[in-house]
Amino acid sequence: MLIAEIALPVPMRGHFDYLLPDSMVPQAGTRVLVPFGRRKLVGLVMACKADSDMPADKLRRVEALLDDKPVMEPLFLQWLTWASQYYQHPLGDILFTALPVYLRKGLGAEVELKAWQLTEMGHDVDPSELKRAAKQQALLAALQSGPVAQEQLSNRYSAAIYRALADKGLIEATTLIPDANKQWPAGIELAEKPRPNLEQSLAISAIAHKAGSFNCFLLEGVTGSGKTEVYLQAIEPLLKQGKQILILVPEIGLTPQTVRRFQRRFSVDVGVLHSGLTDNERMQVWRQAKAGELGIIIGTRSAIFTPLASPGMIIVDEEHDGSYKQQDGWRYHARDMAVVRARLENIPLLLGSATPSLESLNNALAGKYQHLLLRQRAGEAKPVQHQLLDLKGQQLEFGLARGMRQRIQAHLQQGNQVMLFINRRGYAPALICHQCGFVEECHSCDRSYTLHRSLNKLQCHHCSDAKPIPHACVQCGASPMQPVGMGTEQLEQGIASLFPGYQAARIDSDSARGKQKLHQLLEDINQGKHQLLIGTQILAKGHHFPNVSLVVILDVDGSLFSADYRAPEKLAQLITQVAGRAGRAHIQGELWLQTHHPAHPLLQDLLNNGYQHFARLALKERRFAALPPYSYQALFRAEANQAAQAHEFLLQVRQLMAIGPDLAAIGPIPALMEKRQGRYRMQLLLQSQQRTGIQQQLNRLMGQIEKLPLANKVRWSLDMDPQDF
Ligand code: ADP
Ligand code: ZN
Repeated sequence: MLIAEIALPVPMRGHFDYLLPDSMVPQAGTRVLVPFGRRKLVGLVMACKADSDMPADKLRRVEALLDDKPVMEPLFLQWLTWASQYYQHPLGDILFTALPVYLRKGLGAEVELKAWQLTEMGHDVDPSELKRAAKQQALLAALQSGPVAQEQLSNRYSAAIYRALADKGLIEATTLIPDANKQWPAGIELAEKPRPNLEQSLAISAIAHKAGSFNCFLLEGVTGSGKTEVYLQAIEPLLKQGKQILILVPEIGLTPQTVRRFQRRFSVDVGVLHSGLTDNERMQVWRQAKAGELGIIIGTRSAIFTPLASPGMIIVDEEHDGSYKQQDGWRYHARDMAVVRARLENIPLLLGSATPSLESLNNALAGKYQHLLLRQRAGEAKPVQHQLLDLKGQQLEFGLARGMRQRIQAHLQQGNQVMLFINRRGYAPALICHQCGFVEECHSCDRSYTLHRSLNKLQCHHCSDAKPIPHACVQCGASPMQPVGMGTEQLEQGIASLFPGYQAARIDSDSARGKQKLHQLLEDINQGKHQLLIGTQILAKGHHFPNVSLVVILDVDGSLFSADYRAPEKLAQLITQVAGRAGRAHIQGELWLQTHHPAHPLLQDLLNNGYQHFARLALKERRFAALPPYSYQALFRAEANQAAQAHEFLLQVRQLMAIGPDLAAIGPIPALMEKRQGRYRMQLLLQSQQRTGIQQQLNRLMGQIEKLPLANKVRWSLDMDPQDF
């Protein structure tokens, strides 16, 4: 009797034992179909064994084996099992999160590819005999050495070409099983590359020196210092050895230029994984990567789960970016998962940023990561000049101080582009009654509605609620209601009247919805169709607009006084990244930051001494306050229709914990945003000087916590290394 331990995509810990039919001996990492309750589920085999703790007559039987070969290699199983323990999250859910939807649904992993081959008659024909049909001739030549998958041909030949040759009886359709050991031609071709400057050369050779085994590098390089160029030259020797490179980026839609640079430099196939793909397209990239057919895979957060046949290096670009942290379900951090994966695969990991996270910076300063610095901008670009503009007592026009308007005018007259950064989309963040002070608020979230003139709606940015703009105040009947504060839409309108004759483009998640639209917008900006660029944080992310000479940050004062201890770090990263969009080519860049608090130490330090200095000082503060990365945190979140219920649940969790010198607890307290989507949110923060302090307790207690009577009544989750509160 043989028994399989099977992981299932259910919110329960551990795996499940099933009886295997005679003669079925599945390898670990293959999928099976099993009965579960009244359903049938796709499960993943973790191991086979002879005995079970369950009595044999209670065991149900595996119904079918879905794969001949594992869809997950042992190393992946080991990696994700570690994650299950570290994040205290059910293994089955983690394993299935890491698989493409196709495979989760039980569809075939072994895809048969549509392919073409020569017929017998085709073999007898010399392609050069097909005069006057160059394309047909080329296709015939391409098939001389055997069948070729259509996906590798289709870009070059139209359907008509296939049909023409098939009609002549020279070629025929067939199928191909992808070859698991296929490699791209060894002699990869390179497009021209710039000569690295001294700091780039040092970084490239430091990486090359240790590229054969696990090592972490932190490439800390100011904006525009040529980090991408370092990535490109660091991976070149690995690609030449036939190895594959996995690159994580925060947002692909926003940085098509980066993807293009990788595609153009090397002749290897590049797989791109982003949220706009269909399940089928995603499956294709997964399969090709696993088969070793792709040299480079570029993707956002979940691309970290792409299997590689011959891994060479993992790169995490803009490693500080918040999008690497999954914010619901299994709350993994892709950068941290990358560290563990690189160690298991024994390959180097390269983290790059102009504004490294304090966690990574601390690891670099402590010598755990090798620290590579690029202090200067690459090529001819010069550092950005920073200025603070005191808003106190100033008359503002659409959020802009008078003097600012003249500076903008001056830059525009020189034919340059100007970028205006504001942290709010929509027209105005609130609608208020001028008579009685009534504010239109979302009842589910206790937050004001944002006014969207373009949609002609009030919209809550915390839930999906929207409603028509009221004509009069519902409280006192006076009309009309007035917008307060400013968002991107209003700024766009205002700018048009302040700078007639210049075109403004708004780039926020409203205007940039849909990949095509955003591409078009970015394209238009680079062609100079717009001179004024107005946008939210989307603008901060890695764009390269060579003609932007002036960046104006309208207002960040709100973030200077946040209760979240990570707020200063995030604000400093944001300001530095936004500023880094200026002067990236030949033009001198200039940043103006408008504030009511020009003397604020954060702003002073950041603007006078730069992010590097700010970050090192911020680390000192964290050390004094015993905050991460000098301590470790886990956050229990609970939400319920009644605040008391969420509170009571977390109180019971706290009572189970052995709170003492090794483990501190804060809470239960209301979340920073206490009510959202009609539910009250509470949290309990655990903090310890040792990771193990938290881990041991959670290992011991998670089972008990799940069995608390309230655990099924409130919606709760555990967030290891929380980034948001
Ligand atoms: P980062 O990734 O640090 O923002 P990039 O790699 O995008 O910087 O480089 C910024 C610009 O400088 C790009 O246009 C790039 O082609 C150029 N560049 C990078 N390295 C060099 C170099 N060694 N010589 C000349 N130009 C360079
Ligand atoms: Zn709401």
